[in-house]
Amino acid sequence: MKERASVPVLYIIVPCYNEQEVLPITSGQFLAQLQSMAASGKVSAQSKILFVDDGSRDGTWDIITRLAADDARFAGIRQSRNRGHQNAVLAGLMEAKDRADITISIDCDGQDDISAMEKMVDEYRAGSEIVYGVRSSRRTDTFFKRFTAQSFYRLLRHWGAEVVFNHADYRLVSSRVLEAFADFHEVNLFLRGMFPLVGFKSTCVSYERHERIAGKSHYPLAKMLALAFDGITSLSVKPVRIITMLGIFVSLLSFAGVVWTVIDYFLGESVIGWASTVCIVCFIGGVQLVSLGILGEYIGKIYLEVKARPRYIISERT
Ligand code: UDP
Ligand code: MG
Repeated sequence: MKERASVPVLYIIVPCYNEQEVLPITSGQFLAQLQSMAASGKVSAQSKILFVDDGSRDGTWDIITRLAADDARFAGIRQSRNRGHQNAVLAGLMEAKDRADITISIDCDGQDDISAMEKMVDEYRAGSEIVYGVRSSRRTDTFFKRFTAQSFYRLLRHWGAEVVFNHADYRLVSSRVLEAFADFHEVNLFLRGMFPLVGFKSTCVSYERHERIAGKSHYPLAKMLALAFDGITSLSVKPVRIITMLGIFVSLLSFAGVVWTVIDYFLGESVIGWASTVCIVCFIGGVQLVSLGILGEYIGKIYLEVKARPRYIISERT
């Protein structure tokens, strides 16, 4: 296992998708931040900013190649096609894994407060292996975004997935954690929910999130919902259990219904045929839901097996 570096090599991982408007502005800000941390001896002079072009169709890649040609502290990789933010971040992290001691992933649109990096590095130097950037407030969000995002975090927590409240994908991760993370082979990525599964000593650093500097968001409502759904289904098999519960509930209800219709029948108040029909409908409905739920439980187990996540991760050895 790698030793902890006292002056770590930092790779800042920046996913970019059609970002030609912001990149010229924020690349300078990233560099200034890196320079100031290197000057104060917090990170090594070998540290770099690694852009991951997520199959952009505009001038993003040209900007990245120009930056890298002018300054050795910039580097870039390019995905063969657009695969989405989570996959772009993963590509960057895996690229940096063997070259860096620590990585910080951050969006390229200047929304995340760049100066929080220094606090993150301090926390690493104080012993943490993962440092989650947590938004101190959601003032800049619309009411709708704030409400949906917070309900989502609550729901995930409730369903047994370990997520850090108000943490997106601004985080410091050490290469030791990335080594263990490389054993998570799943294709459906929800990084913010997966890193807590890896374990190791972690902490949070709070930061302000601003408006986008330029360009527009690539996360419209539909994509946000898809990410949320991915998050829930990758981290929890609770929805399946809810079907089972519902089935048991409907079965109980239909049992009461059966009793009621039978009484009704003997009191002679019902139309001929009604009692038997209602009984059958209720009963079959309940049985079907319970059966679906049981099938779902097995499928849920298959799902977990197929992901082949590591069964243990050792963080220390004598
Ligand atoms: N991004 C990406 N691939 C995509 C969509 C977005 O790499 O398919 C990047 C984007 O360039 C940005 C980050 O992911 O650096 C966050 O995207 P965005 O700012 O559009 O989302 P928002 O902040 O509005 O949620
Ligand atoms: Mg953004």
